[in-house]
Amino acid sequence: MVVTVDGPAGTGKSSASRLLARELGFAYLDTGALYRAIALAARRDGVEEAAESELAAWLAKVPLEAKPTDGRFLVLLDGQDVEPFIRNEAISQLASRLSALAPVREHLLGLQRSAGERGDLVAEGRDMGTVVFPRAEAKFFLTASEQERARRRWLQLGQSGQHVDPAEILADLRRRDQRDSGRSLSPLRPAGDATVLDTTPLSLSQVVATMARQVRT
Ligand code: C5P
Repeated sequence: MVVTVDGPAGTGKSSASRLLARELGFAYLDTGALYRAIALAARRDGVEEAAESELAAWLAKVPLEAKPTDGRFLVLLDGQDVEPFIRNEAISQLASRLSALAPVREHLLGLQRSAGERGDLVAEGRDMGTVVFPRAEAKFFLTASEQERARRRWLQLGQSGQHVDPAEILADLRRRDQRDSGRSLSPLRPAGDATVLDTTPLSLSQVVATMARQVRT
């Protein structure tokens, strides 16, 4: 069974998806981490500005893996966990920019779908319910007010020791939302059969409980 969780940045999708997967005993796939890993590799290899044809050839050689470990897929680049290097605004913006390009989306499609073939999965991202797993058994689209999303992001960055100006966070969220929703390929939008959940007034455990209840019915 595949459960999809989509939505804009800062809605608490990652935390909710991770806890939902744990509650259901499913594996968890953070597809944003795959786009971020591509951004990290592009920076390292100096191809951020490359033409699409050049990017396609480069992508074929990027040693990127999603490795199932302890209930979640670890994202590895050159066999190394990318997690400590991908949670910053520079990588967020580059991931958002590169994710609008066809070769990048095509390259990640197979990798994401093969995670779904390995067993029960909670897949989190922007186009899980619309493009990657259109036949998923349960689909959610999380939203929250802009102010609340900026507040959650600020708290999350603070927990990882990054002290960013809240106004800057809001500006970054807006830039990313605009790009993610306005692109022609896999624009951010809820699937027709997704449950749209406004998480603004809800605690994390309420969001998880609501989703788990719906998956089980
Ligand atoms: O979810 P996260 O904020 O880590 O995603 C980083 C960026 O990757 C997003 O802003 C979006 O542009 C891109 N992304 C995407 N499709 C997905 C997941 C992420 O385009 N399924």
